[in-house]
Amino acid sequence: MHIVQPGMEIDVLKENNKVAHENYRLMKSHGIKSIDFMGSIGAGKTALIIKLAEKLRAKGVRVCAIAGDVTGADDYTRFEKSGLEAVNCNTGHECHLDANLIRKTLSTMDLDKYDVILIENVGNLVCPADFPLGTDYRVVVVSTTEGDDMVRKHHDIFIHSDVAILNKVDIADAVDVDPDVIARDYNKLTGGIKNIYKCSVKKEQGLDEILAALKL
Ligand code: MG
Ligand code: ZN
Repeated sequence: MHIVQPGMEIDVLKENNKVAHENYRLMKSHGIKSIDFMGSIGAGKTALIIKLAEKLRAKGVRVCAIAGDVTGADDYTRFEKSGLEAVNCNTGHECHLDANLIRKTLSTMDLDKYDVILIENVGNLVCPADFPLGTDYRVVVVSTTEGDDMVRKHHDIFIHSDVAILNKVDIADAVDVDPDVIARDYNKLTGGIKNIYKCSVKKEQGLDEILAALKL
């Protein structure tokens, strides 16, 4: 028999939002600006964070990354190798970060050492949307290699994020994807008021526009 408990999920989400607000206030009390990067595995979140952090560090901004993954330290290691200070945050089983896990992670950090915290969520285009972490901005990153139907298939994450980024536009032709189709879908979904930011992390194109969109 299959028992559905509709009340439970709502409680979980409510509790998450409460802790997210606490995280937000905690980071603000230390003068920290924070960003949550969501998106599928392979969208280029890690590489994007590394490049944005390089630009910020060049301006004297003190940056730390939180590497969210189910298990392992691959992204954490990439951050550290690039010279970006990082904290590894494994969920164990969950396919998304939640506010409680971020609270725990923040409690291990000296928050007076940073101006900006960049959080890489677990590679997943579905449930991270439901779990705000308490950041200033929520960003969704997709790549041309994922096809041109990302926006049409995943409304929630595009609606729940403040900024959307389309990465790997330099190889759009090779993977037979028209970036303008994705841009049009996004513009339509968001009521014609927002545009997706097209970039190529590899070619270092479009990154300054992203920093400006995030007010960094
Ligand atoms: Mg990654
Ligand atoms: Zn999940």
